[in-house]
Amino acid sequence: MPTELRVLNPATEELVATVPAATPADVDAAVARAATAQTAWAAAAPADRARLLRRFAAVVDAHTEELALLEVREAGHTIGNARWEAGNVRDLLDYAAGGVERLNGRQIPVPGGLDVTLLEPLGVIGVIAPWNFPMPIAAWAFAPALAAGNAVLLKPAETTPLTALRLAELALEAGLPAHLLQVLPGEGPVAGNALVEHPGVAKIVFTGSTRTGKTIMARAADQVKRLTLELGGKSPNIVFADADVEAAAAAAPMAFLDNSGQDCCARTRILVQRAVHDRFLELLAPAVEATVVGDPLDERTQMGPLISRAQLDRVRSYVPETAEAVRGKAPEGPGFWFPPTVLTGVPEDAPCAVEEIFGPVAVVLPFEDEADAIRLANATPYGLSGSIWTRDVGRALRASRAVRAGNLSVNSHSSVRYWTPFGGFRQSGLGRELGPDALTAFTETKNVFIST
Ligand code: NAD
Repeated sequence: MPTELRVLNPATEELVATVPAATPADVDAAVARAATAQTAWAAAAPADRARLLRRFAAVVDAHTEELALLEVREAGHTIGNARWEAGNVRDLLDYAAGGVERLNGRQIPVPGGLDVTLLEPLGVIGVIAPWNFPMPIAAWAFAPALAAGNAVLLKPAETTPLTALRLAELALEAGLPAHLLQVLPGEGPVAGNALVEHPGVAKIVFTGSTRTGKTIMARAADQVKRLTLELGGKSPNIVFADADVEAAAAAAPMAFLDNSGQDCCARTRILVQRAVHDRFLELLAPAVEATVVGDPLDERTQMGPLISRAQLDRVRSYVPETAEAVRGKAPEGPGFWFPPTVLTGVPEDAPCAVEEIFGPVAVVLPFEDEADAIRLANATPYGLSGSIWTRDVGRALRASRAVRAGNLSVNSHSSVRYWTPFGGFRQSGLGRELGPDALTAFTETKNVFIST
C-alpha cells in the first residue's frame, strides 16, 4: 500500500507534489470528527448555513486564477477550461445556498390529524471523485450535501488531489466549521473502499468508471448504504440529413475533444444519415486536423494532454496505427499526448464504437433512417448523454423520447448545467445530481402523523 501519492503534470511529466495517502485509520478518525461537526451544522439556522456557503463561493471566486493554475498543473486542462471549472464551483455553492431556504418539508392535513413530512440530513457523506473534472464534480456533491446539513468526506482521484485540498482550505478561510468538509487523498481500493464500508458514512456519491461503480454498489449493499452513481458513457451525436450539416460538423470536434475526450458526456459516436455522410466527413476532417493541441497554459490551445501514461496506453489500445482515420497533430512528449482522431469504416459493434475510450477518439457510423439512428444510438450499455441535429421539430421530439439517456440536447452539445438534473440511464448511473432537487438527494424523508 503506497504511503504517498505522486502528482505529475500531465503536460510535462514533472513532479508537482507528493501527498500523503489516507489509510483506513485516517478515514475512521475523519468520520468521527465529521459526525461531531455535522450535528452542530444541522442544528444551525438555515440562513446561517446559506450565508457561510455564499461566503465560501465568494472566496472561491477570489481564488479563481490560483485554482485554475493548480488544475492545469495536476490535470493538464487548458487554462480556459480550468477557469470555467473554478467558476462552476462558485456557481454550485451559490445555487446550493439558495436551496437551503427552499428545503422545507410539507404538511398534509388529514381527518383526525396532520401529517408532517420532514427532510432530515443524512449525516456524513462520502464523495469519491474522478480525475477528469476534479473540482466541479466534487462540488456537484459537496455543495448540495453541505447545504442540506450534512458533513462531507471527499476522496479525490489519486492523480488530482491538489485542487480538492485547496478547496477545503478555502472553506475554512470562508468560515465553514472545522471538519465539516474534509479531504482524504488516497488510493481507491484503500481510502475509497474504507469510506464505502464505514458504518458512519450514510451515503456515497461516486463518480467514475462503470466497473468501479459496480464494485462500490456491491460493497455498499451490506449496509443498504445510500448511493448516487455517475458512471461512464458512450454518447451519440446523431446528425439527420435535414440538419444544418455545416453547423453540426462545426460543433462535432469539440463535442468529443474537449478535455482531451476525458468527459463522460463526450459525443464519441457520431451517427450520420447516409445521404449527408460524405459531405459531413469532408467538413469534419479539416476541423479535426486543425485542432490546436499543446501547452495548456497557452490561451489558444484547444486540447491538452491525457491525464496519465496509463490513460495514454488505454487510448492507444483502441486505435491501431493502420486504422482508417482522420488524425490531428499532437506534441511528441514528454507528456501524455494523443492526437484528435476520428475512426471511419469500423464495424458498428467494434470495441472502439461501443466501449468508453475516454480519450480524443470518435467513430463515425452511417445510418439509413430514423429507426436505424435510434437503434444505433441505444446500442451500448450506457445512457448518459446524446445530441440530435435536425431542423424537424417533430423528429427532434421523437428522437429525444426514443434515445435512452439522461441528458439530451437538440442542435447543441450542452449536457451539464447546474440548474438542471443530471445523471445516467442504464449502466451510466443511478440517481440524479444538480438541478432544483439536488439537496433532496442528501436527505432522508420522515413522516410524522400527529393525531388531533
Ligand atoms: P475510476 O473508477 O478509476 O476512479 C474514480 C474514483 O474511484 C477515484 O477516486 C478512485 O480512486 C476511486 N476508486 C477506485 N477503485 C475504488 C474502490 N474499489 N472503492 C472505492 N473507490 C474506488 O474512474 P476514473 O478513471 O477516475 O474516471 C473516469 C470515469 O469516470 C469514466 O468512466 C467517466 O465516464 C466517469 N465519469 C462519469 C461522470 C458522470 O457524471 N456520469 C462524470 C465524470 C466521469
